[in-house]
Amino acid sequence: MKYTIEKVATLIGARRIGDTDADIRWILTDSRSLCFPEETLFFSLTSERNDGHRYIPELYRRGVRSFVVTHLPENPSADYPDANFLKVVDTLAALQRLAERHRDEFDIPIVGITGSNGKTMVKEWLYQLLSPQMVVSRSPRSYNSQIGVPLSVWLLDEHTEVGLFEAGISKPGEMQALHDIIQPTVGVLTSLGAAHQENFRSIDEKCMEKITLFHDADVIVYNADDDTAGRCLRCSGFKGEKIGWSRENRQSAMFVESVTTEDASTLIHYIYKGTAGAYELPFIDKASVECSLACACTALTLGVDADSLARRMSGLEPVAMRLEVKEGRHGCTLINDSYNSDISSLGIALDFMNRRPDHKGRRRTLILSDICQSGMQYDILCRTVSDLAVKRGVEKFVGIGGRLASQKEMIKVDEKYFFDTVEEFVRSDVFMELHNEVILIKGARAFGFDRITELLEQKVHETILEVNLNAVVDNLNYYRSFMKPSTKIVCMVKADAYGAGAVEVAKTLQDHRVDYLAVAVADEGVTLRKNGITCNIIIMNPEMTAFKTMFDYDLEPEVYSFRLMEALIKAAEREGLTGFPVHIKLDTGMHRLGFNPETDIDEVINRLKHQNAIIPRSVFSHFVGADSDDFDTFSECQFKRFITGAERLQAAFSHKILRHISNSAGIEHFPERQLDMCRLGLGLYGVDSRDNRILSTVSTLKTTILQMRNVPKEDTVGYSRKGKLHRDSVIAAIPIGYADGLNRKLGNGRCYCIVNGKKAPYIGNICMDVAMVDVTGIDCKEGDMVEIFGANLPVTVLSDALDTIPYEVFTGVSSRVKKVYYQD
Ligand SMILES: *Cc1c(COP(=O)(O)O)cnc(C)c1O
Repeated sequence: MKYTIEKVATLIGARRIGDTDADIRWILTDSRSLCFPEETLFFSLTSERNDGHRYIPELYRRGVRSFVVTHLPENPSADYPDANFLKVVDTLAALQRLAERHRDEFDIPIVGITGSNGKTMVKEWLYQLLSPQMVVSRSPRSYNSQIGVPLSVWLLDEHTEVGLFEAGISKPGEMQALHDIIQPTVGVLTSLGAAHQENFRSIDEKCMEKITLFHDADVIVYNADDDTAGRCLRCSGFKGEKIGWSRENRQSAMFVESVTTEDASTLIHYIYKGTAGAYELPFIDKASVECSLACACTALTLGVDADSLARRMSGLEPVAMRLEVKEGRHGCTLINDSYNSDISSLGIALDFMNRRPDHKGRRRTLILSDICQSGMQYDILCRTVSDLAVKRGVEKFVGIGGRLASQKEMIKVDEKYFFDTVEEFVRSDVFMELHNEVILIKGARAFGFDRITELLEQKVHETILEVNLNAVVDNLNYYRSFMKPSTKIVCMVKADAYGAGAVEVAKTLQDHRVDYLAVAVADEGVTLRKNGITCNIIIMNPEMTAFKTMFDYDLEPEVYSFRLMEALIKAAEREGLTGFPVHIKLDTGMHRLGFNPETDIDEVINRLKHQNAIIPRSVFSHFVGADSDDFDTFSECQFKRFITGAERLQAAFSHKILRHISNSAGIEHFPERQLDMCRLGLGLYGVDSRDNRILSTVSTLKTTILQMRNVPKEDTVGYSRKGKLHRDSVIAAIPIGYADGLNRKLGNGRCYCIVNGKKAPYIGNICMDVAMVDVTGIDCKEGDMVEIFGANLPVTVLSDALDTIPYEVFTGVSSRVKKVYYQD
């Protein structure tokens, strides 16, 4: 569907400046995701951290002509001759209003889903249950925020027969806007839990806020056994039909008679409005069973008959919530997305690939299955796929499935291949010849794309470090919340990003527009540059032998001594450089590296003034104890010494020299000392060094059980007979040892790992490549997953047991441990 720009202006009550005709089909809020400039309307959203108006010049250059703004650029008619500016008071409100008016065009069932857990799973399963018989539009992934919801609702089009939208809130007062945009006719309340509870006084208050979504709905589906939900619904004065499911109350709309767990499935018998039915769910965990009940009630309400429900339930596919990045064979990088293969999730995945720079000059390849999306003619669908792929720089296209093959000519990618099945593809030369490519693998599970990834993946040692890139962003935002919007940030990616992998972490940080990255040595900087990192990079320990490398790759050295400064100036002069940026370090109390801010500074200034090869870009120092209140007096003293030195340096130069002193702990503890820039390290990787609290878990080190055996009481386990057993025991061997970074001092019961949710202590000495753990009484088997540290076992438990700091545990993970990156 499209709207003229004039119509949009009316709908959002904007004043229009400019008179070029334009049709709007696409809405953009993040300039990095631009795809179809001519038909795009850009909303210049402003947040504490960012101002969308900044991206207007760039977007205009790239062909965008329609902008929603709160203020106009200085010379709109001269600088943007054929643009339209829609001027409003609040751009987010305008985006929401446009979605609201778009929603008004539809007189169809719209399902609004909210709750603390399971929203995305319910939405995706409902999609699987409904889409065989009706055309469904739904939120892509978990677009459920104040911005995500309007973008989702915008996807409703003339073919849509039912809409499924998630609404997520984190604070009181947020749901009303989402209600107005979604205007659900059917409300689904998923399970209530602790998420975001910190912003609400009670669970009832949070539940009431969520129920705001359902005010004008005809029907609400909820768990009638949940007292909070029942109580809040009564208080809310909800007038429509309540469809509750209950395992206790026969009077409920859906009475769940029995739930029987079998090996790999769950059998559920129910009575819905007086008629008995049953379905078999191909999952056994509690969360899946709860979500299936919400889905069953909703699907039956929307007119799916009991037989179809049972048939489709048995074929439900797991909901893959994340995009994974892995190293593949033959120099390939694999981006694996087995989320549904519909257009909107394809768009997001292609955008993800496109936003990750790859300067190895590798080709971008898309392997795609037939798209399961009803409602659009297949040729039109293929044309959209083709447009998206071409715009996102895909150079090689592999289509799998008969329907795609029948539309070959619609795909305008130069190099393209089509196969009926995965088997045919993996036996072909096309598969054999995949080489030095970035490959996005995207297929509905039914096509068995697992087989492709399995064959393309480098065979990994069973031990992997999983890195959650969203968590890195969450932590970045957490620390940014202590900083003024104008304060710059340096993200420390030294020591391979504290063990998490510098390249992938740096790509993510660059995408989130951090100002600087910092590494220890020049080689680390070169690796980043070779992988497409264009962000400013500081080298903290520049080696005298690597100056040329730093010049060639634009790596800005720290300068901490006269000897280093002298050599650097000589080298820069030899290369004929002028104004190469450097960062001057002052020693204010660490007594590690740096100039003395009192006694050295005049000579530093003097030397810098008598040359023009290098130029001080920043001046900085480092707190010795920002993580503890005990050193507050000392920190204050350091700060004063720093300011004195920095002021003297600044006074000697006319250009602005950035000042910075805070590390992660300092950002949080001394927000008043943030100066021009802060340096974020450990916090980015999820540990608050002030209290060892875990923020968002970034890294999870995991492995699997190799072998299990029963060992009788009095026998011993491992080298030197150290692991004496005091009872008949079950011992599991896991393929991780001190050579992988599992510190040998954790052995002999000093620490534990997590096996199926239970603590399993290390028994005996940890070996080089293998460790043994005591799993007596734990329900587990060979092949089961074992967590060494991560979401269920904070890394600080290990660092405490070792009497060290989390930094050492993170950076101790050996480079032979393969890393898998993902984002939700
Ligand atoms: C590593 C480092 C940081 C980051 O410290 P965290 O405690 O990890 O935040 C900041 N500044 C300098 C100079 C560093 O070397």
